[in-house]
Amino acid sequence: MSDQDSFHNFETRAIHAGNTADPLTGAVVPPIYQVSTYKQDGVGGLRGGYEYSRSANPTRTALEENLAALEGGRRGLAFASGLAAEDCLLRTLLAPGDHVVIPNDAYGGTFRLFAKVVSRWGVEWSVADTSDPAAVRAAVTPKTKVIWVETPSNPLLGITDIAAVAAVARGAGAKLVVDNTFASPYLQQPIALGADIVVHSLTKYMGGHSDVVGGALIAADETVGEELAYHQNAMGAVAGPFDAWLVLRGIKTLPVRMDRHSENAARVAEMLTEHPKVTRVLYPGLPEHPGHETAAKQMKAFGGMVSFQVAGGEEAAVEVCNRAKLFTLGESLGGVESLIEHPGRMTHASVVGSALEVPADLVRLSVGIESGDDLLTDLKRALG
Ligand SMILES: *Cc1c(COP(=O)(O)O)cnc(C)c1O
Repeated sequence: MSDQDSFHNFETRAIHAGNTADPLTGAVVPPIYQVSTYKQDGVGGLRGGYEYSRSANPTRTALEENLAALEGGRRGLAFASGLAAEDCLLRTLLAPGDHVVIPNDAYGGTFRLFAKVVSRWGVEWSVADTSDPAAVRAAVTPKTKVIWVETPSNPLLGITDIAAVAAVARGAGAKLVVDNTFASPYLQQPIALGADIVVHSLTKYMGGHSDVVGGALIAADETVGEELAYHQNAMGAVAGPFDAWLVLRGIKTLPVRMDRHSENAARVAEMLTEHPKVTRVLYPGLPEHPGHETAAKQMKAFGGMVSFQVAGGEEAAVEVCNRAKLFTLGESLGGVESLIEHPGRMTHASVVGSALEVPADLVRLSVGIESGDDLLTDLKRALG
């Protein structure tokens, strides 16, 4: 327990939770403990419980405590990537014969993990439109152990009512997993809405500077948290100390970044809705978005991701991506710098031919925190 525990506002927790001053020197930022093993004071005499850095490392502990505090969970765990976190979660919760409900719009790598990896171990899955709680209920079988939700979803920015699907999960005796990567805990608190486990790609908004790959699991419940921690150590895909330190540093500015991302994205979405070359804009902040009311209810703001469809089909969409200058053409999202990409040929190439296939004329933007005026100028030029 640190002396900051009496302060509960999110912005304060982002900076202080887990960040206790170094006991040896008083350094206000947790040092990068770039170390694999720890001197024992006699056999089994561990200092602070540290034995070997796969099992625990003080820099990673600082991040894990911070993550638990921000998501309102009992246990946070940091991994080498978002997919490593997902893999650990699925192998902890599932056994052969179990069934999972997955969303019809999700990160391509998550779908690939189910379709190509987990399915080989005898786990069954079916796809549902999670924006419709009745469709989720209809997809549940007596063997369903996990319901997986991503909201807002990647890349179609679909919105799922977390509290409504949590009720379906409780009724089915299944665990509700929410991938909170697009919103971040600043904008959305899945555990408070009834989720059992939150998943993050820390690579995105949490790290926030396109300089680190990482992942996280946050468990609402102590027992589930213990099981996940056991498997994290048993499987070993942990976050290294420097990566953990970079994410911890990024998180301190998460609230101010998310406010600015949301503000710039709203301006971009508004400009696109009026642009003659754009046929459809997908942004939950727009009143015409089918999930707008739910998003307004469960999110503090609408985030920095905007997708849109371009008149002229796939070639026109690819051209827009190629012509943008300030928006860097690249995969990933959530950094301070704006990115543009063509999901069909880039991030979501792995879902072609599946129920998760995305429209060919779709462009996805990760709207950064540069000048909103400059971002609008660049996009208008790219649209021609
Ligand atoms: C990027 C991403 C992941 C995977 O995370 P990695 O850090 O790339 O392994 C999972 N979910 C969502 C929503 C993502 O955007």
